[in-house]
Amino acid sequence: MSYQVLALKYRPQTFDDVIGQDHVTTTLKNAVSSDRVAHAILFTGPRGTGKTTIARILAKAMNCKNGPSAFPCNACRICKDIIEGHCTDVFEIDGASNNSVDQVRDLRENVTYMPSSAKYKIYIIDEVHMLSTAAFNALLKTLEEPPGHVMFIFATTEVHKIPSTILSRCQRHDLIRIPVKLIAEHLKLLCTKEGFQIREESIDLIAREADGSIRDGLSLLDRILSSSQTHEIDPQWVLNALGVIDHQVMHDIGTAIIEKNGAGLIEIIEQVNDSGIDLKKFYADIILYFRNFNVIRLCGRQSPAVNLAEPEKERLFQRAVPAAQIQAILEILLEEENLVRYSSHTRIAVEMVLLKLLQMDSGAGIDHIIHQLDALAKQVGSLEPDSGYSSAPVPQPESGPPSSLREKEKPLPVEKSPVISREPVPDQNYSQGASSISEKTTWQDF
Ligand SMILES: [Zn+2]
Repeated sequence: MSYQVLALKYRPQTFDDVIGQDHVTTTLKNAVSSDRVAHAILFTGPRGTGKTTIARILAKAMNCKNGPSAFPCNACRICKDIIEGHCTDVFEIDGASNNSVDQVRDLRENVTYMPSSAKYKIYIIDEVHMLSTAAFNALLKTLEEPPGHVMFIFATTEVHKIPSTILSRCQRHDLIRIPVKLIAEHLKLLCTKEGFQIREESIDLIAREADGSIRDGLSLLDRILSSSQTHEIDPQWVLNALGVIDHQVMHDIGTAIIEKNGAGLIEIIEQVNDSGIDLKKFYADIILYFRNFNVIRLCGRQSPAVNLAEPEKERLFQRAVPAAQIQAILEILLEEENLVRYSSHTRIAVEMVLLKLLQMDSGAGIDHIIHQLDALAKQVGSLEPDSGYSSAPVPQPESGPPSSLREKEKPLPVEKSPVISREPVPDQNYSQGASSISEKTTWQDF
């Protein structure tokens, strides 16, 4: 059991090791150096972005034998104890399971005692938003007048659930979702340190799947490295391990939809299904594919809003498909998303929705429709002299189908007296050829 997961093995031990949160770590380093650290600090941000990691580094910075120092030594006994998680003066409390008022009251009593070996008693409360209202109220008293030897560090993913009375007594630091590029660089470095060879595209893929969370990225990389039999990681292995669909498959499905190739579409869905990939995820990936396509069409290939590797961006950019068509496809995909999500026959639902896309009129943009209407209006205008009603808006008594339509419409207003309404209709049908005068009067009445 000597194996240690990457997230633990390479956990940042100094502020400078933290990835992608420079705005927070720089502020904290300055605060520690100038001895202006607040007694209550709140870290908020998405999961896996380094909240508790920074909290521990701050605890070391405050309690290091050589400190308070922005650069804790990581060698003294207190630093080591904090790293190993058994420092008697640094308490890591899980807010979710210690959320009652009694537990906070115990904490309040504890706070009054001096630290046993370090300079500060530091309480790190993770997921602090899980505390009950009564627990928050009990905590408030201590936050208002904290003893000089006490520090609170709170971490939360849901800052809106924390009462404003607590928030106003904390120094708040917002951690951000870590950019893909930084995650990829970090993962690549770790692969090299671990002696693994992995292709750039695989690293990019893992970094994208991590979705801004360095912890998720490390955990995915862990899974791939620990399950690989060689130190050279096969890109296909990465795809399988992550359950991610190959770019080429996404490109093929996009082509089949755009070119309205129903047979090709069914074959690709078959392949994806056989490979064991969840079809609901596959559907979500198709939405993402067209979303990226749309953004690249509108904003260009350099758009930072598209989270794709450069060759993929280029490939989408080179495809000549009107933005209106892509948007129409996206619209249907989103409209039908629930059908796929909640269907117990996912495969059939995916097939049905994708085949529906093929029936879509590729030029069905609003501009196109307006253009067609304009053309139609011109055609109607050119017929007007024949009608004898050049200024009237509906002067087409000669044409057969419209008159029959009007006759169908006619019974509607006289539905209340069906006996009367039935009579004129057969009459008009009977003498259709010579009914232009009666139709004119009908239209005027109408
Ligand atoms: Zn130290």
